[in-house]
Amino acid sequence: MKTSKKFLSLSIVTILAMLLLAACGSGGSGGNADSGKNALDTIKENDKIVFGVKNDTRLFGLKNPSSGEIEGFDIDISKAIAKEILGDENKAEFKEVTSKTRIPLLNKGDIDAVVATMTITEERKKEVDFSDVYFDAGQSLLVKKDSPIKGIEDLDNSKTVLAVKGSTSSQNIRKEAPDAKVNEFENYSEAFSALKAGQGDALTTDDAILYGMADEDPSFHLVGKTFSEEPYGIAVKKGNSELVDAINETLKKLKDNGEYDKIKNKWIKEEPAS
Ligand code: GLU
Repeated sequence: MKTSKKFLSLSIVTILAMLLLAACGSGGSGGNADSGKNALDTIKENDKIVFGVKNDTRLFGLKNPSSGEIEGFDIDISKAIAKEILGDENKAEFKEVTSKTRIPLLNKGDIDAVVATMTITEERKKEVDFSDVYFDAGQSLLVKKDSPIKGIEDLDNSKTVLAVKGSTSSQNIRKEAPDAKVNEFENYSEAFSALKAGQGDALTTDDAILYGMADEDPSFHLVGKTFSEEPYGIAVKKGNSELVDAINETLKKLKDNGEYDKIKNKWIKEEPAS
């Protein structure tokens, strides 16, 4: 009798502990390499896929304040992936990332994949795995329409350029305009607010992102030629090859059946300058 009581309470404790663990696992499915299951199997088992997306980047991932929904090219691509892997685009869940937080959140297991204007670079490949390229951008400059700055060559030591932490843009600009002062912000909405407030002479990032800002406030425009190549990829935790394969298959299907062009034309009106 004593033993069975002990057994019963032990079982209750075990069940409670298991429930607690299940409740904690509300993030991505990618952080479970120890269980022997691959991330794709876990995503299928959980019947949801968690994407890290931007919330403040018009055209790619922007929260609509009236509906609370996040909208943009990266969001539609994520939904198409969820539809392909889980049969329903509503099984895509979204968590906000910034340029600086996207790799740490992925590697912590909070998200399964990053679809957030993220350039494939050799440096990043050391930390995460990437899908095939799904969009081609290039770095450019956004200035007030009456600005004397016409291109990267005008960024001398009297100019301040605004950029975002953790972006390739912030690294590239130091090489391309070594004399200019660079001010870094947490995200693109902060950087654009600073530009509007006159805290800098130019904002630098991918042309596709800058088009979204110029669209929002037509007193700004892009100047000069693009000065880098920014091929966007979808990042997953290192070693999740089954998930990368499933994402690449989806991208290929979307391109073959015309859905990719439909999504692109819905959001991207301007062709990146060459
Ligand atoms: N595509 C560039 C990058 O991955 C700039 C855009 C961004 O900050 O997300 O860093």
